[in-house]
Amino acid sequence: MPGDLPPDASGIAAREAADEPGRHTLFWLQSGGCGGCSMSLLNADSPDLFAALDLGRIDVLAHPSLCEASGEDHHALIAEILAGRQPLDILCVEGAILRGPSGTGRFHLQPGTGKPVMRLVEELAPIARHVVAIGSCTAFGGVSAAGDNVTEACGLAFDGAEPGGLLGPAFRSRSGLPPISIAGCPTHPGWIVETLVQLGHGTLGASDLDAFGRPRFYADHLVHHGCTRNEFYEYKASAKEPGQLGCLMEHMGCIGTQVHGDCNMRAWNGEGSCIRGGYPCIGCTEPRFGERDAPFLETPKRGGIPVGLPTDMPKAWFVALASLAKAATPERLRRNALSERIAVPPGKASGKPK
Ligand code: SF4
Ligand code: SF4
Repeated sequence: MPGDLPPDASGIAAREAADEPGRHTLFWLQSGGCGGCSMSLLNADSPDLFAALDLGRIDVLAHPSLCEASGEDHHALIAEILAGRQPLDILCVEGAILRGPSGTGRFHLQPGTGKPVMRLVEELAPIARHVVAIGSCTAFGGVSAAGDNVTEACGLAFDGAEPGGLLGPAFRSRSGLPPISIAGCPTHPGWIVETLVQLGHGTLGASDLDAFGRPRFYADHLVHHGCTRNEFYEYKASAKEPGQLGCLMEHMGCIGTQVHGDCNMRAWNGEGSCIRGGYPCIGCTEPRFGERDAPFLETPKRGGIPVGLPTDMPKAWFVALASLAKAATPERLRRNALSERIAVPPGKASGKPK
């Protein structure tokens, strides 16, 4: 908490040297979002949030769901950070930056100060060792920027898929990294705690981030990987109604073959994912989330073929493979795909090891 060193530029370095070596401070600021990413974080389970903070040697200076500080204490803490007397290692921003009206940021003022949160983020970001965008609205604008975007919402370093946002494409925090985009709506609690632990140990570098600043430990996967409906996908045995067991790509809007995330390999809350809960992947980790033209639960098609095809697969291959697969679909999968429970169990195995 607030220290007693002079408010000069060397204050940060001096205070760091005086602190226990290897410990890191974290300041969490909520901006234009729904708070769902904080709720997600509180559900972290492997490890849980407090174990992760211990592992990363991270001390939380402020988080709206974890701190008992009064508004006055909060303002004093921010003043200490801005004056250089309180070191700031990790700045987490949750929620889009609201620049409206007309670029003034006055749609979202810091309570009790009259200061636009947009300006506060601009002041804190260059001071922090690392800047972390928590959730897709902080990374890209997300649902906060969807539609007419009357609040002029944007991300920290992106405006949708376009580089820019509040801080601009050239921004680098003191560590030399761009804002780290833990995209997702909400973002997976495991993605946040793994990022924090890695930052605490100094093991997350520029090459560990993809072109949108997403940590590659989760963004190098597709949601399709590990999906429990993969057997249905292979034979194009598709669900047509909510609740049915088949693959959700052909009729129900699933774009998991194009969306980055390890959601079906790293279970949510110990066992779930959107798809395991019966809901298609709607692409919440992607920069254009919220700008989709079609309803989430419909698959847009041209000539009967889904418009969004799997990443890396030429359209002609997909069409050829899909028609072959459909011709070879086992009766078990054809019937189970349209059922809410297993209607036809797997056939009897021979029992003989090969
Ligand atoms: S990314 Fe989604 S869940 Fe997270 S704060 Fe923004 S709107 Fe809420
Ligand atoms: S439901 Fe979606 S993620 Fe699952 S197998 Fe089908 S296309 Fe892939």
